[in-house]
Amino acid sequence: MVIKNAHVLINGKLERLDIRILNGYINSLSKSIVPSDGEEVIDFSGKIITPGFVNTHTHVGMSVLRGYAEDIPFNTWLFERILPAEERLTPEAIYYGSLVSMMEMASHGVVAFCDMYFHEEMVAQAVADFGMKAVITRGLVDSNGDDNGRLDENIKLYEKWHGYDDRIYVGLGPHAPYSCSREYLMRILDIAKTNDMLVTMHFFENTWEYDRYSPEEIINLGFDKVHFIPVHCTQLKTEHLDLLKSSYPSINTVSNMKLGNGMPRIMDMLRKNIKITIGTDGPASNNSQNVLFDLRTSILSQKMRAPENFNTFEAFNAITKNGYEALRLLGGEIAVGMPADLVIFNSNHIQLQPKHKFLENLIHSFTDSVYATMVNGKFIYIDGKYPTIDAEEVLSKFSIFSKKVTGIES
Ligand SMILES: [Zn+2]
Repeated sequence: MVIKNAHVLINGKLERLDIRILNGYINSLSKSIVPSDGEEVIDFSGKIITPGFVNTHTHVGMSVLRGYAEDIPFNTWLFERILPAEERLTPEAIYYGSLVSMMEMASHGVVAFCDMYFHEEMVAQAVADFGMKAVITRGLVDSNGDDNGRLDENIKLYEKWHGYDDRIYVGLGPHAPYSCSREYLMRILDIAKTNDMLVTMHFFENTWEYDRYSPEEIINLGFDKVHFIPVHCTQLKTEHLDLLKSSYPSINTVSNMKLGNGMPRIMDMLRKNIKITIGTDGPASNNSQNVLFDLRTSILSQKMRAPENFNTFEAFNAITKNGYEALRLLGGEIAVGMPADLVIFNSNHIQLQPKHKFLENLIHSFTDSVYATMVNGKFIYIDGKYPTIDAEEVLSKFSIFSKKVTGIES
């Protein structure tokens, strides 16, 4: 496939370039590419192309619970509303919930995400069918050393799905320091080291987590020796941040604000050159899966103290290069040899004017759906449509399962 006449975002600047895509990768990039006989040609005059965006923390299946628990404190939200409803979740509910979350993400330029939940085999199937990229992890929790087979499930998931179609990878997802015993965390870390698996965990989201462990105690179990995405980090103090030097914190500002869990020390992290990334968290606590909205909220939360904070370059990196690195995927920029994970915008979109300030407009102004999103050279969203699925059928099944899970008769 050859894309002609597009304006391509490279190092923060737009350049008029053609792109040849071969076997899902960017094969060449130059002012003028002459298509070969039989090669598909797309004229993207009037379009702007950027690298795809990455959402480093979510629970995609939870879209069936979107709007189910609102305006209540975190402990009530989690222990009295979400956990009991999760007992009613079925594999089918997770499958259709995952598709709906991915539909939303794709319409906002997200090409890859990191997930932690249960029935993850259905999340994997949904990712396989939809065409996105993901690192999936089974949420791991134990009680007095008994985890009800969750870790075995995570390993089976790894054996079956890790590396699928160069799009699906499997990591390990200890839920949080407060829901895992020290011995269990050490077992998980051992498996992560042996198999070189990514680990992600909710990390010091609440002050009461200090009652059980300190951040040092947790990291020193070996989280600094594995590829680690700590999520939230809202209650970490400045002196704890050196513990995260080799990790990729997932900043979930919207979820943290909505559930009253405080703000992570974003500027301190940036000053320490910690590679921060952006996550939406699940649709039951955000409730959107539009990572650009989370990015903008995170930026504003820092600029309210000083407008020079969290600049455009740092912001774009957080949802592109850092996100890819966090998920251990090749990509995050438009260059020869990179996968064709692209987001396409209409350059005439009113929120992107003036055109010569595209990146600033994208970060601070754009709220709409993108024109198209491509993963490994295939469109997963284009001009309001989802070419890989039957959107109408998905939404109808989703509605049935959402009603079942939330206890509303259909
Ligand atoms: Zn979460």
